[in-house]
Amino acid sequence: MTSLADIRSTFLDFFARNGHEVVPSSPLVPRNDPTLMFTNSGMVQFKNVFTGLETRPYRRATTAQKCVRAGGKHNDLDNVGYTARHHTFFEMLGNFSFMDYFKEQAIPFAWELLTRDFGLPKDRLWVTVYHTDDEAAALWRKVAGLPEERIIRIPTHDNFWMMGPTGPCGPCTEIFYDHGPSVWGGPPGSAEADGDRFIEIWNLVFMQFEQFEDGRREALPRPSIDTGMGLERIGALLQGKHDNYDTDLMRALIEASAHATDGDPDGPGRIHHRVIADHLRSTAFLIADGVMPSNEGRGYVLRRIMRRAMRHAAMLGAQDPVMHRLVPALVRQMGQAYPELVRGEALIADTLRREETRFRETLDRGLRLLDEELARLPEGADLPGEAAFRLYGTYGFPLDLTQDALREKGRGVDVAGFEAALAEDRARARASWAGSGESRDAALWFDLASRLGSTEFLGYDTEQAEAQV
Ligand code: ATP
Ligand code: MG
Ligand code: MG
Ligand code: MG
Repeated sequence: MTSLADIRSTFLDFFARNGHEVVPSSPLVPRNDPTLMFTNSGMVQFKNVFTGLETRPYRRATTAQKCVRAGGKHNDLDNVGYTARHHTFFEMLGNFSFMDYFKEQAIPFAWELLTRDFGLPKDRLWVTVYHTDDEAAALWRKVAGLPEERIIRIPTHDNFWMMGPTGPCGPCTEIFYDHGPSVWGGPPGSAEADGDRFIEIWNLVFMQFEQFEDGRREALPRPSIDTGMGLERIGALLQGKHDNYDTDLMRALIEASAHATDGDPDGPGRIHHRVIADHLRSTAFLIADGVMPSNEGRGYVLRRIMRRAMRHAAMLGAQDPVMHRLVPALVRQMGQAYPELVRGEALIADTLRREETRFRETLDRGLRLLDEELARLPEGADLPGEAAFRLYGTYGFPLDLTQDALREKGRGVDVAGFEAALAEDRARARASWAGSGESRDAALWFDLASRLGSTEFLGYDTEQAEAQV
C-alpha cells in the first residue's frame, strides 16, 4: 500500500524533477498576515511573491503545506466526522509558478502526475472550468482527451479565485474523481453535487487578471499558477478507499482512539473516533506552532476544537482524560515529516491533559443539564438560547460544542437567543464596570473589547481578504 508519506514525496519529487524548488511548509499562524486566522492553503506563504512585492531566487515552487480550516471563510469544523473528505487539519500539496509557466503547462503537469505517476484511471476523472475559460477547456480536450460532457463549465465564484477585494485573480479548474453510483452524489454543478460520489481532489488557479479598486479588471502581463491538492484525498484514492478517514494515517489515529476508549473503531462510536482523530491533529499542530488555548482569537478556536474532541471522548464512556494519551500515535505517524511535533510532544500532551482535566470538572454536569433541558422541551424543538448561554457561561461549553452535541439528536440551538443572552451579559458587565469609578475611557475600551469579543480583531474585512486556493 502506498502510504501518505510516499504520496507526499512522489508529488514533491515530480515537481522537483520539473524544475520546482521544494519549499518547506510555512507555520499555521501566518506571518505578516493579520487578515488570516490560520494558514488555509499553500499559496498563503507566497502571497507577496504573486503580487510582486517580494522576489525569491526561484520561479517555480512546490510544497506540502499544513493547513487548518476551522474559522473564517473556510470553516470545515462542522463537516468533520460526517463527510468523507473534510478535516480541520490537512496537508495541501501544491505547485506554483511565479510569472513563469501558465495553463499550457499546469494542466499537462497535473494530468501526467495523476494518470501516469499515480496511475488513476482516466475514465473516472472529471473537470470543471470557469464558464468563459475556453482556453482551459481546450487544453483538457487536447491534453487529456476528455469528452465534452466531462468538462463542466461553472459560472459561479467556485471557479473564479480572488486573492482579496483587489489584486491578482482568475479562473480555476477543479479535478474530480467519480467513485461510482454506489455512493450518493452527482457531478459538480448538478443538484446532487454536495454528495460524496464526485470528490474534488485538485484545484488549479490561473492568476491572469488584476482587479482594481475602481472595478477595472486587467490582464496581467505575466500570469501565475497556484494549485492545491488534499494529501488525504489523493491518499484515499490511491489506497483504494472512498473515505479519507480510511487511509493508513487516519486509521492509525482512529485505532489509537478506540484503544483508549471503547475498543471498537467501527462500532456505534465510529463518528466520535473520526472527530477525535481529526481534532487531535489540528490541536497538536496548532500547539506545535505556538498557539495555546485561551478565551480569544486563535487560542479560542483551538480551545473549541479541543473541548469538542473531549466531549466526543466523554461520549465514548472515557472516565479520565484521553486526548493526551493519543499524542504518541500521532508523533509516530507524522513526526518524521514534521519534526516540530517531536519537539513539541511534551508540551502538546501536557496542554491536552491540563485542558481536559479542567474541562472534565464541568463537562459531565453540563451534559446532564443539556439532557434535562431537552427532556423538558417539546419533541424536536431547538434548545433555547438562554440554556445554551448557561452552558457557555457556567460550564465552558463553546456554542459550537453544544450545536455539535445536539446535532446527534437532530436538534438545533436558538442562536439569536444565545447571542441576545450574551449581549445582555456583556451589557451588565459594562454597567458594573462603569459604576466602579473607572474612567470613561476604560468603559469605552471595555465596550470595544467586548463587542469584538472572542473573535479578535484581525484587520479589515477578514471574510473578503481570506485566501482561497
Ligand atoms: P471542497 O469543495 O471539497 O470543500 P474546496 O474547493 O473548499 O474543497 P480548495 O480551497 O480548492 O478546497 O482547496 C484545494 C484542495 O485542498 C481541495 O481540492 C481538496 O483536495 C483539499 N481540501 C480542501 N479542504 C479540505 C479539507 N477540509 N480537508 C481535506 N482536504 C481539503
Ligand atoms: Mg471547501
Ligand atoms: Mg470546491
Ligand atoms: Mg476547490
